[in-house]
Amino acid sequence: MDKLCNIPIRYLKGIGPQRAKVFNRAGIANIEDLLYYFPHRYEDRTALNTISQVEEGQVYTLKAKVLSKQQRQSFRRRRFSILELKVGDISGRITCVWFNQPYLNTYFTIGQDLILHGKAENYGGRLQISAPEFEILSDTEEEQDESPSAGRIVPVYSLPEGLTQRHFRKIIKQSLDEYLPKMNDFLTYDIRSRNNLLNLAKSLVSIHFPGDANIQKQSYERLSFEEFLLFQIPLALRKLRRKEKQGIAHIVDGNLLKEFIAGLPFQLTAAQQKVIDEIGRDMASPKPMQRLLQGDVGSGKTVVALAASLSAIQGAYQTAFMVPTEILARQHLEKIKCQVSSVKYQGKTIKIGLLVGSLTAKEKDRICRQVKDGEIDLLIGTHALLEGGVEFKNLGLVVIDEQHKFGVAQRALLPGKGKNPDILIMTATPIPRTLAITMYGDLDISVIKEMPKGRKPIATRFMTEDQRQQLYRFIEERVKEGRQAYIVYPVIESSYVLDVSAAEEMYKVLSTDVFPKLRIGLVHGRLKSEEQDRVMDKFRQGAIDILVSTTVLEVGIDVANASVMVIENAERFGLSQLHQLRGRIGRGPYDSFCILTGQPQTEEAKLRIKAIIENSDGFRIAEEDLKIRGPGEFFGKRQHGLTELRIANPLTQMHLLKKAREEAVRIVNKDPKLGERQNLLLREKLLQRFPGYEKLMVVG
Ligand code: ADP
Ligand code: MG
Repeated sequence: MDKLCNIPIRYLKGIGPQRAKVFNRAGIANIEDLLYYFPHRYEDRTALNTISQVEEGQVYTLKAKVLSKQQRQSFRRRRFSILELKVGDISGRITCVWFNQPYLNTYFTIGQDLILHGKAENYGGRLQISAPEFEILSDTEEEQDESPSAGRIVPVYSLPEGLTQRHFRKIIKQSLDEYLPKMNDFLTYDIRSRNNLLNLAKSLVSIHFPGDANIQKQSYERLSFEEFLLFQIPLALRKLRRKEKQGIAHIVDGNLLKEFIAGLPFQLTAAQQKVIDEIGRDMASPKPMQRLLQGDVGSGKTVVALAASLSAIQGAYQTAFMVPTEILARQHLEKIKCQVSSVKYQGKTIKIGLLVGSLTAKEKDRICRQVKDGEIDLLIGTHALLEGGVEFKNLGLVVIDEQHKFGVAQRALLPGKGKNPDILIMTATPIPRTLAITMYGDLDISVIKEMPKGRKPIATRFMTEDQRQQLYRFIEERVKEGRQAYIVYPVIESSYVLDVSAAEEMYKVLSTDVFPKLRIGLVHGRLKSEEQDRVMDKFRQGAIDILVSTTVLEVGIDVANASVMVIENAERFGLSQLHQLRGRIGRGPYDSFCILTGQPQTEEAKLRIKAIIENSDGFRIAEEDLKIRGPGEFFGKRQHGLTELRIANPLTQMHLLKKAREEAVRIVNKDPKLGERQNLLLREKLLQRFPGYEKLMVVG
């Protein structure tokens, strides 16, 4: 039989080309993707609540009929719509409201039966449910005992617009029935019995349609274990390889580094100096360095990486510096050029090159030639560095900035362009040490725990819609004082296409109605990167007062004069994302302000906003983030820096992670190439999951 990942979704009954597109947008291209699209919660339909049971502050699942509906505009805000639905069952009636989702209006008709799931709130003395999840029941639902939506425990998925729960369940059920009997388990019987795991077919059935809570838990464990294992095998392999490898002994006490540090316009912090020393010891040793540098936003990691580059250049080795976005690459280029301008190497200045996707083929060729000839000492770039045409004369150091933006396999590719170069990986998303050791088991870890002197704390607060005028006047005053501001909008991801319309629309309103006299700029990920750069440059030079943007700002932008950041719909951002965004201000000598707006509906969203207001230290925030998520919760698509994991949660499933790690070491030690018969399916899986995996087995 064909592998499930080779069977396109449109082969399923009931999925035509149009539907298939919607599935594709949700990241589901084939049967395997479909079966690995897990529910985000379950509903026990034998134990529904009645409306008379509803009390303030609790979450309920109700079955009720639509009695009336009304759509209206908000009085206070233009462009703001409210949909009100009155629903009832034999015990009573209750109101459900949705804000600003006008398209919902067309979904509901009077007399329809709904399943509703949400939290009851007290609104002016009466109970209502805000933005509940809902499902429209068909007339015949009751009779269909076989229907996957009428079963006892029903899965609920996060679906993009255009897919309904009922249809999705049916499709899942159908493909489980059809394909599972033919499915092979890539975890051998040995591995399963050693770790007490269910087989794959059973786990997939039960994760979608659990007979009871116990079997659901066991399938969750099995599927999490396999994710951990697939994640740990490359790590174990790399660690194994590293022991055998001979790297470069760099010259760490040369004059380049000394001149560089002496020429900086500031004093290094003690923490920076300590980390530079740690890196120096690694680089001086012939064993290849693999070090993870954790440091909060703004703690000054770039200078540390630059110091390491100079040690490499001292011995005529090249450095590759990879960052996640073009804006960031260009900004690094400017800043680094300036910082090393005074340093002379054999009478010449240090030659820095930039390689990003938007260069013309000709420009790329030129840079690539210079890199190959060894004319360029330090090459800064994006993913473009990974391309086949990029060859170094003598790559001695690889720096990967904001590592959480890159996948495991991508991380492994760049070092392959040298002969065991030293590797420095940097991240501003700190995770607790025990977890870091397990997740990045093959890396040594350094931490910068101190901020440069003179940073002013950032005042963070929440403002309600009523205070919007006040907020605008506040921004205006700061601009009058000579400062600049960011206004950030979330990119709506629900439809899995980059929706930047909120930012675009508000850009118009802000520049015409609200701040007609100020200079407003707009930047988002759908603009061409030259355009992004142009706008960023204008902002950097002070030719734009207010920059309206999406989260493209999140990584590394450094404009010291910007002292205000407004984050609109803050509830839509993850906690670490909020922290990263806020890190864009407070970089100069000015008082800085971060203002959050929005409508947090869930308890979690409220806690996230509270946490960002009350904490400034990134490590504390990371811990709060973990607490808020709580045990047993599916990770979903939310940003957490561990993007390869869909279902497994390293924080709440530490024991499983440990077991998977042991298993990975056992497998790799016995059969490093995964060439033995019992490992072939596993090997195939790894290659499928991490396209760069083959290389990893060679170079690590
Ligand atoms: P991050 O750790 O977030 O990458 P950066 O390296 O971008 O931080 O540094 C943030 C800003 O602080 C930069 O403008 C940098 O020049 C400056 N900086 C770095 N180290 C120091 C220091 N020791 N004293 C003062 N400013 C510093
Ligand atoms: Mg940085």
